[in-house]
Amino acid sequence: VSSGPHRIERDTIIECGTLVIGSGAGGATVAARLAEAGHDVVIVEEGPYVDHAGVPDQVPEGMSRLWRGGGLTVALGRTPIAYAEGRCVGGGTEINSAIMQRAPETLLEDWARTYQITDYGPTQLRSYYDRSAAIVNASLTPPPLGAASDILQDAGARLGWKISPLERAQRYCVGTNLCSIGCPTGGKQSMTATQIPAALARGARLIAECNVRRLVLKGSRVTRVDAIARAWDGLRHRVRFRPRDVFVCAGAVHTPALLRRNGVRRNVGNTLRLHPTLKVVARFAREINAQRSRLPLNAITEFMPDQRLGGSVFLPGYFGMSVAEDWENRRWLLEEWRNCGMYYAMARGSGTGTVRSVPGLAEPLVSYALSPVDWNNLGLGVARLGQAMFAAGATHVYPSIVGHPGWTSAETCTEFADRPLPASRTNLMTIHLFSSCPPGEDLSRCATNSFGRVHGTENLFLADASQVPEAPGVNPQLTIMAMALRNAEAFLAGVH
Ligand SMILES: Cc1cc2nc3c(=O)[nH]c(=O)nc-3n(C[C@H](O)[C@H](O)[C@H](O)COP(=O)(O)OP(=O)(O)OC[C@H]3O[C@@H](n4cnc5c(N)ncnc54)[C@H](O)[C@@H]3O)c2cc1C
Repeated sequence: VSSGPHRIERDTIIECGTLVIGSGAGGATVAARLAEAGHDVVIVEEGPYVDHAGVPDQVPEGMSRLWRGGGLTVALGRTPIAYAEGRCVGGGTEINSAIMQRAPETLLEDWARTYQITDYGPTQLRSYYDRSAAIVNASLTPPPLGAASDILQDAGARLGWKISPLERAQRYCVGTNLCSIGCPTGGKQSMTATQIPAALARGARLIAECNVRRLVLKGSRVTRVDAIARAWDGLRHRVRFRPRDVFVCAGAVHTPALLRRNGVRRNVGNTLRLHPTLKVVARFAREINAQRSRLPLNAITEFMPDQRLGGSVFLPGYFGMSVAEDWENRRWLLEEWRNCGMYYAMARGSGTGTVRSVPGLAEPLVSYALSPVDWNNLGLGVARLGQAMFAAGATHVYPSIVGHPGWTSAETCTEFADRPLPASRTNLMTIHLFSSCPPGEDLSRCATNSFGRVHGTENLFLADASQVPEAPGVNPQLTIMAMALRNAEAFLAGVH
């Protein structure tokens, strides 16, 4: 039992009650709840433990330490989609913007029906959402929010579009704007500021830099879990876990990859969903100094749930990457960087993708096919985003389309409102992935039962983004936490 992360210094066998694989929004929530109930919990995390005082303050170092693949991860398809995930203790919550939202009630009702999820819907989830929101102190940030937020506010007011403030997981946030590379003050209520210390205080053990490779199933039970851990001196050691129960919480990509690699394949990794997102760089006549303020803490929600228009984190490193997408057309912006902001149009995503593990490859093969509806939403979304930018005083708007000369007026920026975006030149990205192992009693489409137990197994459970049945159209962390809490409590109550 420890008050901080353990290191493995030799080949080891560990007996435990519940092994939680992955320490992100889902895993940390399960670990804290089970430890609170007195269970013997071990959390195993592939990435490093980076404490608040030790987080890097530069984008390249931050991305290489806390992001999976240093940020170079992609879903293949006719149009590839760059995706981002955390790979550290706390998972994505350490690098995310901590915007907390609940899934629309109509979607929750729809999912309960479509997937036959027992005891699921807005009423049944309310208390899980409320408790999760309280754990991370989901709250509005007091104004002033800064020029980057004011731009969206102003645009919404001028165009008569609905604009909504966004709650965040924060307590005494001082606005360093470094959320995406690890909060240096602990103001962001990520998992290392909330659920991980709560779990450790109740006796859970945490093993960082320990990669689970194998689940050994005998009949319907997992009897052993094999992992490779890195010691302080960099040497690697074998760890063999003998758990009574296992929660896989490795995220929407790695949960299905781990299951499939170990022969658990029914409805696993066939229905990945995501929020395809198209960014723009907007240049204004005046200085914005977006690097100095928090990321925009409001969004244009007039066109939800199909499209959301909002603002991205702005740091010189990210801005440089956006300019480098099309050096010819955009290099002049480098000198103008204080006048620039980065904004996005996000579609709910109705296409699906797959996750496959390939022998010999460390990372799974991820693919995603945008649906025609997704393309329409992105085209319309970026046209509306352009209009918003010009309404708020932009002089130039560059969509993430290679070779695009940029727009200089509200009239020209509607170019893709009614004709297709160029699929081979459009640079799409996403930070929201889910639905690769949906829950429910419909055996033709669900990987687990209504409470996360993998169908056909007795002691193998899931609790992470892979369980969110479909794309929610809003930021997913709070839904992931609420569903993880629900799965953990069903497990404690023996309802599974
Ligand atoms: C840049 C960025 C910004 C975002 N902004 C927001 C936001 O503002 N609001 C919001 O709601 N959401 C946001 N998200 C999304 C949100 O962070 C994720 O949806 C959420 O963290 C997913 O939770 P999870 O538990 O499914 O997985 P994760 O948080 O990804 O955790 C999974 C963990 O499992 C570990 N793991 C994987 N495989 C193994 C293995 N084999 N062995 C051991 N460990 C393993 C991983 O290293 C990882 O730490 C953002 C994401 C990113 C990347």
